[in-house]
Amino acid sequence: MSETVQRDCCSAAADTKKPLATIEQTIERAIGLCATIEGTEVVPVTQAVGRTAAFDVISYLELPLRDHSAVDGYALGGTGTGPFRIVGRTTAGETAAKRLSSGQALRIMTGAPVPPGTEAVVMQEHVTVSGDQVTAGFSVPAGDNIRCRGEDVSSMDTLVRAGARIDPRHVAILAASGYQGLEVRRKLRVALLSTGNELRDPGVGMGPGSIFDTNRPMLQALLAEERIDITDLGIKPDKRDVISDCLAEAARHHDLIITSGGVSVGEEDHIKPAILDAGGHIESWCMAIKPGKPITLGRLDKAVFLGLPGNPLACFVDFLLVGRPLMDSLEGRPTAFPSARNARAGFSWERRPGRREFFPATVVGVSDEGLPVIEKIGRAGSARLMPLIEADGLGAVDSTCGSVEPGSGLQFFPFKSQMKL
Ligand code: AMP
Ligand code: MG
Repeated sequence: MSETVQRDCCSAAADTKKPLATIEQTIERAIGLCATIEGTEVVPVTQAVGRTAAFDVISYLELPLRDHSAVDGYALGGTGTGPFRIVGRTTAGETAAKRLSSGQALRIMTGAPVPPGTEAVVMQEHVTVSGDQVTAGFSVPAGDNIRCRGEDVSSMDTLVRAGARIDPRHVAILAASGYQGLEVRRKLRVALLSTGNELRDPGVGMGPGSIFDTNRPMLQALLAEERIDITDLGIKPDKRDVISDCLAEAARHHDLIITSGGVSVGEEDHIKPAILDAGGHIESWCMAIKPGKPITLGRLDKAVFLGLPGNPLACFVDFLLVGRPLMDSLEGRPTAFPSARNARAGFSWERRPGRREFFPATVVGVSDEGLPVIEKIGRAGSARLMPLIEADGLGAVDSTCGSVEPGSGLQFFPFKSQMKL
């Protein structure tokens, strides 16, 4: 990509012909501001979901722990169909029975250790029993229905890699391997601030020009993850010194400060000067996206700073595109651009090329090749929230796109369900 990041390209002095930064470039710069947080803690494995493994976890056992039966049936001391003489019975949880001799069989239940001398286990559905004799309906292949020690995990295998985000699959393998606790990165300390004279929390007293703060509750909800401790810094008015003092204090105790509002170049946009007053360092530019063009990144004391736009839809999009990868980087997780699916348009749309554009979209069908067909909802560039409620995800078109026809290829970022597959 030949585009270069333009610092302060939103400023009044900016040459508007200069290219804007792509999202990928912005993420790269954001990651460049992050050092992996130090500090770990040990938590019970069952409470580690959503946390980040601090180190590789090595298995000190083999899984399965011992050879055992995969079915209810008969362990056979030989191959062929038999008949075999039944010499006993064993169930899960017992120690392995004594060695089977050729021609002997043992009634065995799922999970029971197979005794030495077992050639195969035959399912109970595939045998005929007559007195103490069992005959298989077919010649059972050697090893059939035996789960062998170590076939899943060898000792010294890496069960979980450092930086992995723990999910229920990791809990399963750690539990099977006898782990009760896991060393994870300490929680990220994130401070959250809304800026704007017009903003109020419910119950605080609305003036004639007031609106309810939307971004702070929305970001709190987006940040409601096991790995994050949020500090609510509330709402601050558009006063440079007030914002500066608040940020300077927060920067002493947090890994990341997220603000919304005041990142453009209006007369009441004080975020950048406030950071500079507090002794911080700012890298601000505009991203070539819509909505969410103005974004501010920087460092202040120990904290990384992320200044999001005030328009709630822009704030939402920028947080998902840049905020999440930034937090992953702070935690030492691999960072990834949100994963898009290829999709087909179910609509027509004329637009001005120049910026990559995201829009709330619903899935309205499936194309012949099996791709989701999406419909754009809401007006371009709008700050409306209702389309988000109706949407199944965000659709996106490339910056060069000038028109969309039914069937045009585009991208779709589905909102993840609780299951998060
Ligand atoms: P700004 O980025 O401060 O210029 O704000 C852009 C637009 O977003 C303005 O209409 C603001 O009133 C609105 N806005 C800013 N912050 C919030 C917020 N926390 N909740 C809802 N709307 C906001
Ligand atoms: Mg404002």
